[in-house]
Amino acid sequence: EAATKHFRLPRRGLRRRREHVHSLDGVTIRVPAGQVLGLVGESGSGKSTLARVVLGLIPLTSGRVSVDGMDAAVRDGAGRRRLSRTAQLVFQDPHAALDPRMTIGESMHAVLAQHRIGTREERAGTVSAALAEVGLDDGYLGRHPGACSGGQLQRVVIARALLLGPKLLICDEPTSALDASVQARILNLLGRLRREHRLTMVMISHDLRVVRFLGDRIAVMYLGEIVELADRDDLFDGARHPYTLALLAAASGAGTEVTGEPPSPIHPPAGCRFHPRCPLATDHCRTEPPPAHEVERGHQVRCHRWSESRAALAGEAGAEA
Ligand code: SF4
Ligand code: MG
Repeated sequence: EAATKHFRLPRRGLRRRREHVHSLDGVTIRVPAGQVLGLVGESGSGKSTLARVVLGLIPLTSGRVSVDGMDAAVRDGAGRRRLSRTAQLVFQDPHAALDPRMTIGESMHAVLAQHRIGTREERAGTVSAALAEVGLDDGYLGRHPGACSGGQLQRVVIARALLLGPKLLICDEPTSALDASVQARILNLLGRLRREHRLTMVMISHDLRVVRFLGDRIAVMYLGEIVELADRDDLFDGARHPYTLALLAAASGAGTEVTGEPPSPIHPPAGCRFHPRCPLATDHCRTEPPPAHEVERGHQVRCHRWSESRAALAGEAGAEA
């Protein structure tokens, strides 16, 4: 239906700087309009790649990504403009997102001018309104990015992303470069904007607290695969994948850290990609990639031992103690 956004990602990975990165194998996520998908995983798991593919910033060699019915691979100017009106990205580092030579007002006007929206006077009103929405007054219009704090600049970046009235906002670690107190304020701001604008959002973070705060559904990524996907409470209370369980245990300080470096996403391990780091791995795991099992409606987990993983890991923790 028109209200649903599909991100259909390729089965055979994508080409990036001539390397075949098995970065997003077989990922299919549907994010219903108005929902927030929290995407969590370690760095190198493919979270940022996913964001860039959705926005057409990384070309695909196979498969297709569609955003609100539009092909993200469009290359012509009109198609790009249409896509960027629909979907906007907020990156981790707001300093890198803004041209240091332009004032904040100029950066924001440039977006509207590029899309030929409004007269000069109308644009001024739109820019002021967007800044007001993120809690900044017109005093910021004449400032350069260098004269602002990271938190202020991230507000500017969010205001700029809203200028075109996007339906989908992809936030890639939007708070991880900010101080803890500023992080909370930016997350609250995103939560409010999401409700007021009925935005569909993909919230990418390595931080479980961030995805828990904003996400309606949570996807856990490991080496380019979604290994677990569930509604927020089902994931936090009933996770089944050993990797998810390890992330949750580490976040709560209950031990069972995921040890070792993640293997290369260019040459992922055979069988289950998590097997070199999994305490429950069997010979079967080392050779057979696990399919996605449906634990219950809307809760999928990619693990051969999904039905016994919780009890088995609890036993492991008990045996070590
Ligand atoms: Fe661990 Fe096997 Fe499950 Fe992979 S399939 S997560 S190795 S138990
Ligand atoms: Mg990243």
